[in-house]
Amino acid sequence: MIEVKNLSKVFPDGTQALSDISVSVPKGDFVAVIGLSGAGKSTFLRCINRLVEPSGGEVKVGGQEVTRLSLSELQRFRRKVGFIFQQFNLVTRIPVLENVLCGRLGYLPTWRGLLGLFTERDYQVAREQIRRVGLNEKERTRADQLSGGQQQRVAIARALAQEPDIILADEPMASLDPRLSDVILGILKEYNEEKNVTVLVNIHVLELARRFARRILAFNKGRLVFDGPVEQLDAEREKLIYAGSLEAL
Ligand code: ADP
Repeated sequence: MIEVKNLSKVFPDGTQALSDISVSVPKGDFVAVIGLSGAGKSTFLRCINRLVEPSGGEVKVGGQEVTRLSLSELQRFRRKVGFIFQQFNLVTRIPVLENVLCGRLGYLPTWRGLLGLFTERDYQVAREQIRRVGLNEKERTRADQLSGGQQQRVAIARALAQEPDIILADEPMASLDPRLSDVILGILKEYNEEKNVTVLVNIHVLELARRFARRILAFNKGRLVFDGPVEQLDAEREKLIYAGSLEAL
């Protein structure tokens, strides 16, 4: 489903964020991407939908070569990719329902979107996802009047309202109280199991990755240093990933 071959990213300032990454993720997998801060997790996720433009290599999603898409093709592709940011990226001045409806914009002609002319089905899908994340009581509440955890749930509902084929979540719990991590990952896991939608989530806390993911990709200084089922990540490898010692792997 997602096939990455020899992916690399060098930022304009010369930082080599990713080196020669090759990995394939089958449809319906739940993958945790782990590694120290600065290891390349976020850049990896962003290269998959070209929020970051890869410097080399190939990214294929569902047989489509993302790295070659024109701007309009890329827009069509992105409507099937839900991206969840650490900082939620909501429109804070508008209510929950309208924020979640933004997830439907990719399905509307631009003029309808600009006028907010959503269809009955758009409303239905949006409300279904608001219910899923447990915010039906807050549908009319402005986003900036919600707690951080609630705002992230709105962001997740927005991504799910896209009816995505894949979900990319970039440390969605990082700016929240650690106690909320289970709620956020629980919603993603439930959706993954119910719809067989592929989920890739960057997780800083290994214990969470172990509990929620089936498979782990570990990055260290821009290199993929572990790719396998959770059970295979033994204490020794774990130490090496977090100690930053590449040579020993
Ligand atoms: P992680 O998500 O694992 O914390 P990142 O993917 O954010 O890691 O970063 C990988 C490396 O790329 C780091 O050295 C980071 O400083 C660098 N980096 C990220 N974004 C940029 C950018 N826009 N310009 C230059 N360097 C960047």
